[in-house]
Amino acid sequence: MSAEMRSNFLRTQIQDDLDTDRVSAVVTRFPPEPNGFLHIGHAKSITVNFGLAEEFGGQCHLRFDDTNPEKESQEFIDSIQEDVRWLGYEWHGEVRYASAYFEQLYEWALHLIEQGLAYVCDLSPDEARAYRGTLTKPGQDSPYRARSVVENRDLFVRMRLGEFNDGERVLRAKIDMASPNINLRDPILYRIRHADHHQTGSDWPIYPTYDFAHGQEDVIEGITHSICTLEFEDHRPLYDWFIENLPVPHRPRQIEFARLKTSYTVTSKRKLKQLIDEAIVEGWDDPRMPTISGLRRRGYPAAAIRHFCEEVGTSRSDSVVDVAMLESAVRDELNRHAPRAMCVMRPLRLTLTNLAEPLKLQVPNHPVDQSFGHRELVLDAELFIDEDDFREEANKHFKRLVIGKRVRLRGGLVIEAESCDKDADGAVQCVYAKCITAVPGDDPADGVKPKGVIHWVSADRAIPATIREYDRLFSVSDPGKAEDLSAVLNQDSLTTNTTAMVEPGLVTAEPEDVYQFERQGYFVADRYEHHSERPVFNMTIGLRDTWSNPNG
Ligand code: ATP
Ligand code: MG
Repeated sequence: MSAEMRSNFLRTQIQDDLDTDRVSAVVTRFPPEPNGFLHIGHAKSITVNFGLAEEFGGQCHLRFDDTNPEKESQEFIDSIQEDVRWLGYEWHGEVRYASAYFEQLYEWALHLIEQGLAYVCDLSPDEARAYRGTLTKPGQDSPYRARSVVENRDLFVRMRLGEFNDGERVLRAKIDMASPNINLRDPILYRIRHADHHQTGSDWPIYPTYDFAHGQEDVIEGITHSICTLEFEDHRPLYDWFIENLPVPHRPRQIEFARLKTSYTVTSKRKLKQLIDEAIVEGWDDPRMPTISGLRRRGYPAAAIRHFCEEVGTSRSDSVVDVAMLESAVRDELNRHAPRAMCVMRPLRLTLTNLAEPLKLQVPNHPVDQSFGHRELVLDAELFIDEDDFREEANKHFKRLVIGKRVRLRGGLVIEAESCDKDADGAVQCVYAKCITAVPGDDPADGVKPKGVIHWVSADRAIPATIREYDRLFSVSDPGKAEDLSAVLNQDSLTTNTTAMVEPGLVTAEPEDVYQFERQGYFVADRYEHHSERPVFNMTIGLRDTWSNPNG
């Protein structure tokens, strides 16, 4: 079994259901509520549901659990579909909507009423809370629990016709107010809400609750394994109660697994929305957001996200995964798939005093993978190197350019620094160096080899670029626990560099192309703002993890 097919309890359970003929084919679903953009936690759910269906030759549905119209919108519906596809999955058949089943759900609610298993309750929310009891104290029956079937039916039909105001009445299941499981204490099935719905318009003044809707949606679609997160474990008896008490054609099974939580990340939609509302980030797809569209804009490859989700596995116990694991999956993927290029972040002019003519170089686009081919770079007498790569004097630990010392220019010649010009404040303005070799790749004839390699661009040919250097959004590993999100922000999560110069070949970079800028890290051409005449690159990730070791 490959690493991609590592065993986990979900696979074992499904295999067992197939082996014992409990099911003949696997049907799963990914059921987002369209009330926000998808995040890394959803990616986990997507890879689980689509991945298991794929593995067992089954189907996975995309179903919008759209039972809360006020918080939902078409924008979210569109972004969710785009994100699922971008992650590399395609749902079976049409996109499905819980709202398409409202009529059937309504019929089933009437069925429960007819069976004496549901009633219309007029308690106010506060009263209902008092009647519900607590974990240690049983609840009390609502005074409306004894309504007749005829009265319940009449009231529920009138609820549906829009005769009552929001919050005036609810429909509840009649189960057991003394149950140790609070979810079984006569849970609400329908609420009155005179709200327009993005799919059904003004058709419905009542909306089903998650608990009543979800399992029945599974039933309607023939879902075999309804995989969800652990917080629904205590809802499973209710999920099964509906199936037992309704004339349903099919019996799905709910299985729970632990939510994915990563350090240095918040995934609550409420908190993500707060970051946007308070203008801490620029939107749902800001490259610092843990949303799929944010990660995408940051340059994280879909394959790395899938790989990470598989790597963390599925379990039944909550734990926090170090976000460095995700970052490492990104580095692994990009190391293999990103072509190399050169970018000088803080340019310092370097003049090669003895280079008579520009020299054409053939430079490999990848250090090991030959299939990336070569590109032509021209080494001119006037170059830019990074400010940090030069010092007038330095000890032997500094393996870059120093007066009287040698370095190799990446893909080019060995040079030796001779002198530099400084301004009145002593800041270095430009450096003069001579070429020690004449042929790229050669070592100096006198045997004095350079200690290091530095990157460079040709001063006249390079293109100015805007580089957005990103870092983690939060400075603490568990920002979700902070009272005030703005108190735990990493103040350096975005640095915009407008002095950078990239090699001329990057004029062909298309939005979303990712490169390794040699010695700097991985950078992606921004999906929206990059243009060949005005390049904008987002830093995806540095070459090394600078968080695990404080000395970097
Ligand atoms: P909320 O309830 O705050 O709106 P949610 O994260 O539950 O958010 P949904 O749109 O209901 O959002 O989630 C769709 C599916 O994704 C559900 O099946 C849910 O269990 C799953 N999911 C959400 N977050 C995670 C996570 N962190 N790890 C694994 N699965 C998740
Ligand atoms: Mg939810």
